[in-house]
Amino acid sequence: MNYIEVIGAKHHNLKDISVKIPRRSFTVITGVSGSGKSTLAFDIIFVEGQRRYLESLPSYIRQFLKLYEQPEVDLVAGLPPTVAIEQRTSQAGPRTTVGTLTEVSHYLRLLYARVGEPFCPECGERLGYTNLDTILANILERYSGKKALVLAPKVRRRKGFHRPILEKALKAGRTIVRIDGHLREIPPIPDLSRYREHTIEVVIGEIAISLASKSQLENLFREAFAEGQGEALLLVENEEIILNEKAFCKKCQLSLPEPDPLLFSFNTRAGVCPHCGGLGRIEENVCPSCEGTRLNKTARAFRINGLDIGSLAELSVKEALSFMEGLKFSGKKKQIANPIIKEVLAKLGFLVEVGLSYLSLNRSGDTLSGGEAQRVRLAAQLGSNLTGVCYVLDEPTIGLHPRDNALLVKALYQLKEKGNTVIVVEHDEETMRAADWIIDLGPGGGKRGGQVLFQGPFSEILKVEESLTANALKDPQRYKLTSQARKPASFLYLKGASAHNLKNIDVDIPVGVLLVVTGVSGAGKSSLVMEVLFENLKRLEKGQPLVHLRELRGAENIRRTVVVNHTPIGRTPRSTPATYVGIMDHIRKLFAATPEARARGFDASRFSFNLSEGQCPHCKGQGQLKVEMKFLPEVYMPCGVCRGARYNEETLTVRYKGKNIAEVLSMTMAEAYEFFKAVPSLAKPLKTLCDLGLDYLTLGQPSPSLSGGEAQRIKLASEFIKGKRGGTLFILDEPSTGLHPADVKKLLNLFHGLVEKGNTVLVIEHNLEIIKEADWVIDLGPEGGPEGGEILYAGPVEGLLATDTHTACALRDFFK
Ligand code: ADP
Ligand code: ADP
Ligand code: ZN
Ligand code: ZN
Repeated sequence: MNYIEVIGAKHHNLKDISVKIPRRSFTVITGVSGSGKSTLAFDIIFVEGQRRYLESLPSYIRQFLKLYEQPEVDLVAGLPPTVAIEQRTSQAGPRTTVGTLTEVSHYLRLLYARVGEPFCPECGERLGYTNLDTILANILERYSGKKALVLAPKVRRRKGFHRPILEKALKAGRTIVRIDGHLREIPPIPDLSRYREHTIEVVIGEIAISLASKSQLENLFREAFAEGQGEALLLVENEEIILNEKAFCKKCQLSLPEPDPLLFSFNTRAGVCPHCGGLGRIEENVCPSCEGTRLNKTARAFRINGLDIGSLAELSVKEALSFMEGLKFSGKKKQIANPIIKEVLAKLGFLVEVGLSYLSLNRSGDTLSGGEAQRVRLAAQLGSNLTGVCYVLDEPTIGLHPRDNALLVKALYQLKEKGNTVIVVEHDEETMRAADWIIDLGPGGGKRGGQVLFQGPFSEILKVEESLTANALKDPQRYKLTSQARKPASFLYLKGASAHNLKNIDVDIPVGVLLVVTGVSGAGKSSLVMEVLFENLKRLEKGQPLVHLRELRGAENIRRTVVVNHTPIGRTPRSTPATYVGIMDHIRKLFAATPEARARGFDASRFSFNLSEGQCPHCKGQGQLKVEMKFLPEVYMPCGVCRGARYNEETLTVRYKGKNIAEVLSMTMAEAYEFFKAVPSLAKPLKTLCDLGLDYLTLGQPSPSLSGGEAQRIKLASEFIKGKRGGTLFILDEPSTGLHPADVKKLLNLFHGLVEKGNTVLVIEHNLEIIKEADWVIDLGPEGGPEGGEILYAGPVEGLLATDTHTACALRDFFK
């Protein structure tokens, strides 16, 4: 079959729609916020694909896996196995790095184990061969008079194959072994399950070290070296001395073990820095012992072309790529190294292709932005040889400068060329143009969306009249510099900003304008705005010393600073958009003021589903109940008593203009605006929410079901509603996330509104439609990572257009 066919989809707001998605092609699903894109892509296509895959697994495995809600759809035909690469699920922990996530680290560990050269951790001298005499002389000198055990290493940190080793040792008359550091008798049937890494050393003998026992010691070592392939281990009191004939420093008299790949992992006992436990940091500071490399001294003693694996991982991807390209081996080493190098080069190349050349391989997963994390996963997939898979991605252009978009599109194409189906939810025009197939949902959001307006190649979408996507793309205003730039009222002066890659720069931040901070990914935008500006404004307020900054003046020109981010507005169903923006209080008062409520003696608190008088006693006002199931994630079911209404029956008998409180909460913002038009305290905030493109949300929608972008816009609306006095500095990171071009306009109107009220709006953005509306642009660069961190331009957009920065070029192309 050549298509994935979705037939009769009714999930969430979808209106019994059917779509066809060509297989082995690249499809973009677009439409305004809330039109149903994620519902189609993730809740139906991805979940269906996963469900089928899970059903093919044995039931005892299935019970441990995440179960998804069964989508409401008649049929999904022709669906390959699906893989979702989402922003929200791509967040990784502190024990993952760019290297581990892409498996580059895996290959580097292999490479260092095979061709790494040992250097003395004390003096840096290259370790070399030695003879037994030298070793013995050294031991006698240091440990005479002490008792010692001589052991031969057999297996290092590997699972399996232990039984024959132990049996053989038993046959050879040995009785004691050391398993992962624990000395014990060889058991008849080795029970190794309680040991973590399964390192086994066999005890060759025990001896009191002295000149008199020298020949005995020599014999023990001969045996140990023979069994341990040139390596032996000496245990003296609490000391563990590794002796390796092939890697010995004559000056410091010490050896390194033969390396294996696990030695180079910070997630193993063998490789981990004991000081920081492999995190590279101790609280906020870089670990002084491993200098942030997360690895112990032994692991860092092996080098290739002079570089140890920890230092290699600290290079940017771009630098690492050129280091790897420069590696030349000959003979047997070449045979071993070249296939590994080839893999590493390919993987690093994928990271460059998705616009991440500025990241270092040891950058913690938990410090990546959502967009970066998603693209790291994408790069990992590009390196996998899966074919016949359906990939579902969620706005992969987030965090990407237009300069890098073409690279990303190329990467998506590669996935397709390998025989996969690629489906992305995206608003970016260039990505839409590059797609083989477009599905446009709409026309509006929520109840007013959920229909298919168009499916076909991009060239034809422009003809569809009711498509907001087509209209936005056709609008000539979109491609012009429209508004007159405002003049800054004053400035905040930053001197000597130096966080991350910032090059000790001086920056003037204008006040009372719409300011856009832009630049390619990794240029230093977040470092400047969050870690220098925001952090130091906070510190100034608390009287703490500045960080990453020498001087900050002009802070008296702003009254307060608010970061409007993408974090959820509430984590329980008790929180809703209406409670968050404060309109719930007004609605409750209206209900309490009705003659019916007064006759019954109900006051405003009666109409809160969070208080006992009015709420449904069964679900305590949640409208739904958590069902705990063994082995399964928790599931919410509508409350059987109130059927989701959240209130008890007496409360619901009270009506305002014919509607009870539960019916009001199920209205969309747009419906509520019509309904409460005559009540100024409600009409105003509801209009603000609608103007921001949130007209499709219902007043009572549980906050946890809102997307990050929706949460950000609700916070912004709430600030707009509350803020009477000006003087606030609003900081937003990529507010265009999740926004269709038609919604971007609405957002811009709100920004202008906030500025007109005397506030400053600072946004970090790549979106050209937002950049062109700025009163003032700060363009950072020229590149990402070490090659960025400088101010390329600061001033009105017109002046930017006269420069040659990446942003200026992208803007000029857009205006053409
Ligand atoms: P888009 O991805 O186009 O922004 P969505 O697919 O996220 O739109 O949402 C489509 C509609 O479904 C919206 O009205 C949204 O509020 C609703 N919706 C999304 N998730 C849920 C959910 N978990 N429960 C109920 N309604 C939801
Ligand atoms: P932008 O916001 O322009 O994409 P950032 O300010 O996030 O750029 O990053 C600038 C540089 O600082 C990049 O090289 C990035 O890898 C580095 N960087 C950012 N955050 C961290 C962090 N938490 N740890 C280490 N390096 C970081
Ligand atoms: Zn450390
Ligand atoms: Zn109930």
